[in-house]
Amino acid sequence: MSKLTLDRILQSQGFGTRKGCQQMIAAGEVSIAGACITNPRATFETDGLEFSVYGESWTYREHVYIALNKPANFECSRKPSHHPGVLTLFPEQFTWRDVQTVGRLDHDTTGILLMSDDGAFIHAQSSPKRHVPKIYAATTHEPVTPALVELLLAGVKLHDEPAPLAALTCRKIEEYRLEIVLEQGKYHQVKRMLAAAGNHCDALSRTAIGNLTLDALGLKEGEWCYLDEAQRALLT
Ligand code: URA
Repeated sequence: MSKLTLDRILQSQGFGTRKGCQQMIAAGEVSIAGACITNPRATFETDGLEFSVYGESWTYREHVYIALNKPANFECSRKPSHHPGVLTLFPEQFTWRDVQTVGRLDHDTTGILLMSDDGAFIHAQSSPKRHVPKIYAATTHEPVTPALVELLLAGVKLHDEPAPLAALTCRKIEEYRLEIVLEQGKYHQVKRMLAAAGNHCDALSRTAIGNLTLDALGLKEGEWCYLDEAQRALLT
């Protein structure tokens, strides 16, 4: 439980600088429980606080934890070069809050991508010591053969990796589709493993991180949702 002044509350929620928030409040653009609050120094209990800014409703969140079903042709980089960044899919408050991606997907990879403004969460999730399985569905250029699956399970050598990298599990889904589960998150790992095994990845989607699946979240490409504590507990 913590009480904060309204200007600080809005600033923490990504509505701009403290001064900008003070001006917005003084201009009568902020209401709480239907009442317009014009005093930036008025204090409110933040826990569960609902407020509206320019007529749009918001709930106070100390941090945001988000799952996005990333569409193709968006970059995870904070300084995207060839395609728009994934942050452009979110309200601008998320940029002010310094929301970042947890790891990256390639610009042409779709599927589940975690995002947050909680540094400890991002750090814990991205730690190489954390062996959270990530499930990918890959469309291959050549048919998926038993030999390909066996090779990916046995491990393939990538040129900048000291030891071969193996899939945790791997199975054929269709003639040109396979599911591959990886514990590591190396650069272009699925595509490079498929290439090293003599095939080629034509399209890639991440369908789950740990036990958090896109199916359960029910997100279409480009859609996102906040993750609650129970959903975050599935990221193991
Ligand atoms: N492996 C890849 O090759 N690309 C991704 O985006 C994720 C995993």
